[in-house]
Amino acid sequence: MTDLAELEQFLTGKGCKLTRHRRVILQALLDLAGWSSAREIHTYVLARNHKVNFSTIYRNLDALTSIGLLCRVERADAISYYTLNQASGHHHHLICKSCHRISELEFCPLTQMDPQTLQNFTEVECKFDLYGFCRDCQEKAQEPNAD
Ligand SMILES: [Zn+2]
Ligand SMILES: [Zn+2]
Ligand SMILES: [Zn+2]
Repeated sequence: MTDLAELEQFLTGKGCKLTRHRRVILQALLDLAGWSSAREIHTYVLARNHKVNFSTIYRNLDALTSIGLLCRVERADAISYYTLNQASGHHHHLICKSCHRISELEFCPLTQMDPQTLQNFTEVECKFDLYGFCRDCQEKAQEPNAD
């Protein structure tokens, strides 16, 4: 999704409204591209003279994440980052512990589990992200003169 009209269409499809606050937040995510923290989004919004308090930003980011419009990951430093969900379906993320790069993981462990493993739980939701060191960071670590 690359513009507000498309995002609004998605919201309407989910029975949600594009409120003034949501419009401001989604525009910020479009402008900032990539992943941003709630703080970064708040700073950006304030700089553009929109009076929105931090808890409103946070609450709306949560709501937009729960309907699948945004992806949220928690970095190794425990800060949550948000981005517009560009994936077509359910997915997970790989997060670098060193440079904090985040990539999509087209794999879901839930699909590999049978009802017995899941102890016959139904409507199981899966929250699952993986943390490691990306290729670039591995290569940097191997350079002889790396400090
Ligand atoms: Zn994602
Ligand atoms: Zn890395
Ligand atoms: Zn999953």
